[in-house]
Amino acid sequence: MIKTVCIFCGSSPSVDSAFLDAAAETGKLLALSGIHVKYGCGAAGLMGAMAKGVLDNKGKITGIIPAFMVDMGWSNSNISTTLVTHDMRERKRLMISNVDAVIALPGGIGTLEELMEVITLKQLGRFNKPIIILNTQDFYNNLLVFLDDMVNKQFMREIHKKLWTVVDSPSEIISAILDNTGWNPDEIKYATNI
Ligand code: AMP
Repeated sequence: MIKTVCIFCGSSPSVDSAFLDAAAETGKLLALSGIHVKYGCGAAGLMGAMAKGVLDNKGKITGIIPAFMVDMGWSNSNISTTLVTHDMRERKRLMISNVDAVIALPGGIGTLEELMEVITLKQLGRFNKPIIILNTQDFYNNLLVFLDDMVNKQFMREIHKKLWTVVDSPSEIISAILDNTGWNPDEIKYATNI
């Protein structure tokens, strides 16, 4: 059973509406399935669209945001449950603790950093939940090619491609989480001796 998921996604409001729509649809589908969403508490871009999708459908959402972003006025005032952290590190730690999956939607450098950190933690056996990449409009294709290249050039093993699952549309997210066979923490052994 999926109780809680963490969502990483972009904060830019200037992106194509297809990205905002897919974020809103993701929030809606999670809310309708009774899944609690944790996210970075932004109001703009995909963050705001996804949160609105949850709230419009009476879902449960928690925003986790560092104090400096609250001071910047970036915290989403529509979110009633917020956790204010000392810094970005504490925020990321809380965002991925006690969740049943992480979902990365398209985003900028902040989203990329969050996604790469959680994949790295999983490779090292510190996080063992499904990581779903929503590849709206093939947004992540170049990253996936780069990750393939890391495998081809033996910076990673082929087995490491099991660390994440790519889906094309929001409607595939929940089944991708449920179908996920999981990464065995024993597989930390593959982090070396490539
Ligand atoms: P990005 O993918 O670069 O747009 O960044 C998304 C992530 O960056 C979020 O999870 C936050 O960590 C942070 N972030 C950047 N800008 C904002 C903003 N205006 N409001 C809230 N969070 C933001």
